[in-house]
Amino acid sequence: MTTALVIGAGVAGPVLAMALQRAGLHAEVYEGDADLADERGSWLTLQVNGMDALRAVDAHHVVAGLGFPTRRMRFFSGTGKELGVMSMGEPLPDGTVSHLMSRSDLYRALRDEAVSRGAEIRLDKRLTGATRIGDRVRAEFADGGTAEGDLLIGCDGIRSRVRAVIDPGAPPVRYVPVLNVGGFVPDFPLDTPSDEFQMMFGKRCFFGWSATPDGGVGWFANPPRRDEPGPGVLSAMTDADWRSWLLELLAPDRSPACDIVRAAPGPLFGWATFDIPRVPTWHRDRMIVIGDAAHATSPAAGQGAAMAIEDAVVLAKCLRDLPVDRAFTAFEGLRRERVEAVVVAGRRGSSQKAAGPVGRVFRDTFMPMMLRRMSAKGGVSPDWLHRHHIEWDETTHV
Ligand SMILES: Cc1cc2nc3c(=O)[nH]c(=O)nc-3n(C[C@H](O)[C@H](O)[C@H](O)COP(=O)(O)OP(=O)(O)OC[C@H]3O[C@@H](n4cnc5c(N)ncnc54)[C@H](O)[C@@H]3O)c2cc1C
Repeated sequence: MTTALVIGAGVAGPVLAMALQRAGLHAEVYEGDADLADERGSWLTLQVNGMDALRAVDAHHVVAGLGFPTRRMRFFSGTGKELGVMSMGEPLPDGTVSHLMSRSDLYRALRDEAVSRGAEIRLDKRLTGATRIGDRVRAEFADGGTAEGDLLIGCDGIRSRVRAVIDPGAPPVRYVPVLNVGGFVPDFPLDTPSDEFQMMFGKRCFFGWSATPDGGVGWFANPPRRDEPGPGVLSAMTDADWRSWLLELLAPDRSPACDIVRAAPGPLFGWATFDIPRVPTWHRDRMIVIGDAAHATSPAAGQGAAMAIEDAVVLAKCLRDLPVDRAFTAFEGLRRERVEAVVVAGRRGSSQKAAGPVGRVFRDTFMPMMLRRMSAKGGVSPDWLHRHHIEWDETTHV
């Protein structure tokens, strides 16, 4: 049986392990972290196309019970004026819609499901290098151990080591000029529908909030910051620093943002985000990258996890139907245009969040028109994005 060494057990890794198993391959997953009980970021929306891709490997039920359904985003300006509504995709045929969930819940659920199906996930195995030896690949780990397989798949995220092994000249990550901070406030009743994300292009800061069915509110803020913070700058900021900065940035706006920030349990902490405009080489010598390792997008796209899941399912299908080299080529042919369009959309979304005074006027004037035009066409959600469907039983051709 063909053995795939899968590096990383975030989103793509566990889904790939399940999909490879379905495709008749053996997967060994190596995760660099020693501990699975991690908290990475706060909230994440898994949009319908990601839910649909999980269905191809019968794993949609794993996430359907996480978080809560969210159907649309409603945009406001800082003056409180409604700018428009955008759907997060039409429901799938069985009624499934996009879900807002805690990031750590998603990671845990996918890993648990993969393990319950027999996947081996080895922890504290940080890949340092990999070499092709004949038709095999040998992986080397920071603990001095090695592993051999027929191919190696990097699901090791935006700072991918596998990407650097495949192409030492791969472009570096690019800083996205807004920071991220967010959390959950229990017992913060709001008079807004719980299946809706409200988003405000504030005068000085973008802010998003969503009432949860249990009477709480999930929130995030994107304070603009033009230059990448140096090492240690963000970690040196205290809860009080974040709180006072956010309150100052959000004070001019008409929204519940300041009340939410005041009520938010601490400690608040924030992080910088990055994308990669284009990774020119995805595969070489029986090694390939997928997910963020191949096409990291700004969080503004709300699609990185969904894309990682789609990648995992499509690659497993390619490997089921074709020899390794042709499978990698077919995978790239099927995925590159789509994922790069998402990276572009994510970058555009981040720029709107960080718009200056002129950009704000332009955005607040044209965004309602754009959303109205999309509504008039009968689809307020980009169909190319949300209606993507992977038919597991369909054979892949080159
Ligand atoms: C603030 C923020 C908000 C976001 N919001 C959304 C959203 O709303 N919707 C959405 O779909 N996406 C969102 N994303 C993006 C999403 O989280 C990522 O696109 C997704 O996690 C990518 O999955 P992945 O498996 O490729 O990488 P990751 O989830 O990053 O997993 C990579 C794994 O590889 C491991 N690893 C790294 N290096 C090594 C090594 N050398 N050896 C072994 N293991 C290694 C890591 O420990 C990790 O477990 C957001 C991202 C951020 C930062």
